[in-house]
Amino acid sequence: MDFSKLYLFALKYAQEVGQPIPNPELNSPNVTIQPGKPEANCALEILKLWNPNYFQGVSSIVVQPSADYGHVQSGPGQDHTVIYLNADRIVTESGGVYNGKAAALAAAKVIAHEKGHISSFDQQQGFQGGETPAEQEEQSFQSWLNSGGMERIQTLPCFQNLSGTI
Ligand SMILES: [Zn+2]
Repeated sequence: MDFSKLYLFALKYAQEVGQPIPNPELNSPNVTIQPGKPEANCALEILKLWNPNYFQGVSSIVVQPSADYGHVQSGPGQDHTVIYLNADRIVTESGGVYNGKAAALAAAKVIAHEKGHISSFDQQQGFQGGETPAEQEEQSFQSWLNSGGMERIQTLPCFQNLSGTI
């Protein structure tokens, strides 16, 4: 079975059972996304535009409801390389389906924040530096947006296909 057919099968299966599916376009093989959430998918494309290797060190992005916009977990039984993304809340608070572009940017910023936590991870001591490394990563992303990144994002097909303006 060639890979694109396998992906289509996975997509169909995921739609039926509501599970995250692997995204074959990401460098990390097991990064997962929620089917039917184009804003979250486009957030990944945005971050790969910033840095093609952005998801090195991230094993999965699991889209599911939670108390936050996003989070990471460490400790016994937890995988510190997984980013949990509350895409529904991000989309809703960005203006819902009528403002998909804003939601994609907001989701990218949340993922960048959580990636900052993952990059601070120490095997002995867990996530280091509190919110500082996460906020620094957000600021780096914002700096890139302000220095030409936003213009490049406008050329992404996934972004052009989202509703709203930014
Ligand atoms: Zn944080």
